Amino acid sequence: MPVSKTSKEKSVPKATAAKAHEMMQLLCRQYPDADCELTFKNDFELLISVILSAQTTDVQVNKVTPALFANFPGAKALAQADPEAVKKLIRPTGYFNSKAKSIQSCAQELLVKFKGQVPNTLEELVTLPGVGRKTANVVLGVVHNIPGWTVDTHVQRLSKRLGFTKNDDPHKIELDLQKLFPGQDWSKLSITLIWHGRRQCYARNPDCPSCPLKHLCPSSLAL
Ligand code: SF4
Repeated sequence: MPVSKTSKEKSVPKATAAKAHEMMQLLCRQYPDADCELTFKNDFELLISVILSAQTTDVQVNKVTPALFANFPGAKALAQADPEAVKKLIRPTGYFNSKAKSIQSCAQELLVKFKGQVPNTLEELVTLPGVGRKTANVVLGVVHNIPGWTVDTHVQRLSKRLGFTKNDDPHKIELDLQKLFPGQDWSKLSITLIWHGRRQCYARNPDCPSCPLKHLCPSSLAL
C-alpha cells in the first residue's frame, strides 16, 4: 500500500544530538562500505558524471560515461565536441538537451577559467555552469577528501524523517547537518544516508520493519 508520509514528516520532532549520532552510527555499521557509486577515473569525469546524474540513477549514468569519455576525454575535447554527438551519447540519462548544454558549458568554463583543470574549492566549483553546492561537495569529498554534506534528494528526505532538520531548502539543511555533526566525516555520512535512502528508506513505502533505526526513528511505520 503506498504510504504518504507528508503530514507525519511535518510533525517529526527535532532529534537530540545524542539520538542523531546513535542513528548515524547504526547506519554506518549497516553500510560500512558505502561509497560513491559513479564510475570515474579522475575529477573531471566525476564532475561531469554528477551533472549527468540529475533526475536519473548512477547506474544509468555509468552506462553512458565510458563511451562519452572515450570519445571526449577531458575538458578541451568535450568543450569542442559536436553537440549532437554529445546528446546522442548521453540520451539515456534523460533531459539530454539541457544536460549536453550543461556539461559542454562546464567544460568550456573549465578551459577559460581554470586551464582545463577541475578546481578544488567550493567557491570556484560553484562558478561553473550546472554545478551547485551538492555537485561541488561530491567532487570535493570523493576526490579531495574535503568534507562536505551532499544534500541530494535522499539526504533531504532522510534528514527530515530522522528529525535532523525541519528545513526544506538544501542549503539550510546542509547548515543544520553541519551543526548536528560537527567535526564528523560529512562526505562519508552523506554517502551513508544516500545508501540508506536507495536501499531501504525509499521515498514511497520505506522498508521500516527491517530498518536498523526502526526503534529510534521518529517517522518509523514499523512500530
Ligand atoms: S524506520 Fe522507516 S522512515 Fe525511519 S529511517 Fe528506517 S526506513 Fe526510514
